Amino acid sequence: MDIEVLPLAEYKTPPKNEANLVFGKQFSNRMFVMEYDGGRGWHSARIQPYSSFTLDPAAVVLHYAQEIFEGLKAFRRQDGAVALFRPRDNVKRFNRSADRMCMPEVDENFFLKAITDLVRLESDWVPHNEGTSLYIRPTMIATEPILGVKPAEKYLCYIILSPVGAYYKGGLAPVKIWISDTYVRAAPGGTGEVKTGGNYAASLLAAREAAQRGCDQVLWLDAVHRKFVEEVGSMNICFLYDGKVVTSPLRGTILDGITRRSVLTLVDEMGYEIEERALTVDEIMDGVENGRLKEAFGTGTAVVISPVGQFTYRDRTVHLNGGHIGELTQKLYNTLTGIQYGKIPDVHGWVMPL
Ligand SMILES: *Cc1c(COP(=O)(O)O)cnc(C)c1O
Repeated sequence: MDIEVLPLAEYKTPPKNEANLVFGKQFSNRMFVMEYDGGRGWHSARIQPYSSFTLDPAAVVLHYAQEIFEGLKAFRRQDGAVALFRPRDNVKRFNRSADRMCMPEVDENFFLKAITDLVRLESDWVPHNEGTSLYIRPTMIATEPILGVKPAEKYLCYIILSPVGAYYKGGLAPVKIWISDTYVRAAPGGTGEVKTGGNYAASLLAAREAAQRGCDQVLWLDAVHRKFVEEVGSMNICFLYDGKVVTSPLRGTILDGITRRSVLTLVDEMGYEIEERALTVDEIMDGVENGRLKEAFGTGTAVVISPVGQFTYRDRTVHLNGGHIGELTQKLYNTLTGIQYGKIPDVHGWVMPL
């Protein structure tokens, strides 16, 4: 299938003040779109001006949330070239999400080309300042107008681009974590490992509760025992516990994060022992106090690495590292961003220059 490139009616210049970019609020001039019909498969692939869609009020996505998305970034490197980080992993995960939500898969190579063609055309939207990037949001929605609960026959798949500022303006900043024992994010057999909108709608109330307690993010516990750590907000979480790197295993309730995967490769090379097991709340709360838990950090595309400064569970708050960033946390941040921005050689083949 060819990708038709439609002309722009008007050209918007990219924002000049890169320090004031708000995450996901501004979008570039163009978007990729393609459509799916039951009998026909994917068709009408095009790169067109960014614009609104017309949807039938009965569209399946609006009622039963048949929707998936992805999130990855394009970086402007030291030499001015633009590169993507492990984009094929995102496309593969998009297809795994599609499968779980009974949606049609996309052709892996074709979709990768759609992403790279779009970013190449919009490369002036990749910001220049340190720590900035162009966030790429592939999305698929069910558009068939029918109120019956069944997989739709029609879909729209699109990719939009948003320039984002540096997440940390004055160096890495530790976050405050609220451990929720009221709400759960995902249960075994559910859709926790899928990037599907409903998971995030269901997480909002717990996030509000965290904010009311003066915290930045929610740490989710497992749905069955309300005891084992799953992940944080929309990040995976890693701990430096007893000198080992410990992170929750992939059993269907947490996202298989590409940043998580990259971190595990890096710490393995640094010589750390890795344990993929779920820590308990008690191991965290007591571990901070008895010194077995030295560092904790979230991992995800938006933040890369997010150091944890404190945990609150019920009425108890514990502070990690006296408000300082852990050594391993800082080193992983420097290494990963160094690879992404081309300051450190990419020995793993993670970076895809355009
Ligand atoms: C996207 C996401 C992550 C992180 O995945 P990355 O591939 O590292 O960006 C972790 N948890 C949730 C719930 C997510 O949505």
